[in-house]
Amino acid sequence: MDCIFCKIIAGEIPSARVYEDEYTYAFYDIEPQAPVHVLVVPKQHVTNVIEGAQAPGMMQHLADAVARVVELEGLQQSGFRTVMNTGADARQSVQHLHVHVLGGHPLNLTMG
Ligand code: AMP
Repeated sequence: MDCIFCKIIAGEIPSARVYEDEYTYAFYDIEPQAPVHVLVVPKQHVTNVIEGAQAPGMMQHLADAVARVVELEGLQQSGFRTVMNTGADARQSVQHLHVHVLGGHPLNLTMG
């Protein structure tokens, strides 16, 4: 499958890892929209949150990993935003489920 995030998870494409466990991988976005911009992805390939909801445990594992990333990046007190883009209207550009974690400054009403 020609999926850039699957290749990142497999180590075939370099990434700046923030956190990893059995189910998830988290790394810095290559085009950050905020001082902290991390992508949290399931290791199992699904396209979006709708498919992810059908994979037992996947959304819980993602939420657990988001919590770890927030802790590692020191965002608990200041706050942060999570975003999951799905489909054309949301301009989803990578067809592998990912949670954007954005923070590190007061965020505006666009994504970052
Ligand atoms: P979305 O538009 O929600 O599909 O977000 C995809 C995100 O993946 C964008 O913010 C991109 O900057 C990011 N991205 C694409 N390729 C890479 C890469 N090789 N390493 C890190 N982030 C990437």
